[in-house]
Amino acid sequence: MNPSQFRVLRQKGTEPPGFSEGTAGELEYELKKKLGTKYPKTGVYTCVGCKTPLYYATSKFDSGCGWPAFYEGVPGAIKEVVDADGRRVEILCNNCGGHLGHVFKGEGFPTPTNERHCVNGICLKYEPST
Ligand SMILES: [Zn+2]
Repeated sequence: MNPSQFRVLRQKGTEPPGFSEGTAGELEYELKKKLGTKYPKTGVYTCVGCKTPLYYATSKFDSGCGWPAFYEGVPGAIKEVVDADGRRVEILCNNCGGHLGHVFKGEGFPTPTNERHCVNGICLKYEPST
């Protein structure tokens, strides 16, 4: 884990909007460079803290929010905790407790769950299926 990843995963930081797509070496920038798309149809996103699979590639969608967005986690992989102010729901890796981002529900996105897991790209690593 590098210092930027540590700041998000372990200290609940947030990467700037557009960071993942606009920064060389980051998740979405590299996906576009290597695969030509931020939305590969196969594979899985794993936790950079512990390598646990967190999101299937098929659950990633375009939310336009500036962070990678998914409509559901791998079953059992994501832990949800209401923020101290009661307004937002934090999402964490259920295995290592790493902070991932927040989940928003009922926003009306045309996805099967009507949920948006807004995840810091820095927390995720893409693993193509073999
Ligand atoms: Zn983890």
